[in-house]
Amino acid sequence: MAVYHGPRCRQCRREGTKLMLKGERCKTEKCAVERRPFPPGARVSKRRRASTEYNLQLREKQKIRRIYGVLEKQFRLYFQSAAKSSTVTGEALLQILEMRLDNIIYRLGFAPSRSSARQLVLHNHFLVNGKKVNIPSYRLKAGETVQVKEKSNNLELIHSSLKSMKDVPEWLTVDKVKLSGQVVRVPDRDAIPETVQEQLVVELYSR
Ligand code: SF4
Repeated sequence: MAVYHGPRCRQCRREGTKLMLKGERCKTEKCAVERRPFPPGARVSKRRRASTEYNLQLREKQKIRRIYGVLEKQFRLYFQSAAKSSTVTGEALLQILEMRLDNIIYRLGFAPSRSSARQLVLHNHFLVNGKKVNIPSYRLKAGETVQVKEKSNNLELIHSSLKSMKDVPEWLTVDKVKLSGQVVRVPDRDAIPETVQEQLVVELYSR
């Protein structure tokens, strides 16, 4: 499975916003966006073109892709799938991203970031509907359950993440004692907290 292995904070600085890719560190003063609130590569940025409509659309697409940790090819496939859905395309795209197993584990509070969630899934720490699933992009459906495997019940990362988790979104339920969660329904746009302009992605891919 291909994933981005470069510096994550650089991605945030490039997008000029906190994408929260490093869990707890993102909430501290160590955050690179707080310390260096300008894009990486100052000399390059001087040569950069002014913000055209295309650039805005491109940057928003990159931002969403990076938030969810999805590579270009996969992202485009998600878009094609969203475009065929009966829901508004931008909303359908976000719904597909939200229903990924790594995102659900992050939203349930079992991991401090989506990248940590991805690692946990790859290392076989979760069951979906009682069966082993180690594919971070696995797409859950309403009603499906996620459970920490019994042998992984004592993992410190999971417990520390759960402790710092405030509330799970209303479309999910979590049992912090049994270390399990359920997707109650597919979230509509209002229930997805990411402040992104998905319509710009639709415009970009419709060119
Ligand atoms: Fe982004 Fe988190 Fe790094 Fe801040 S600490 S730049 S929010 S990944």
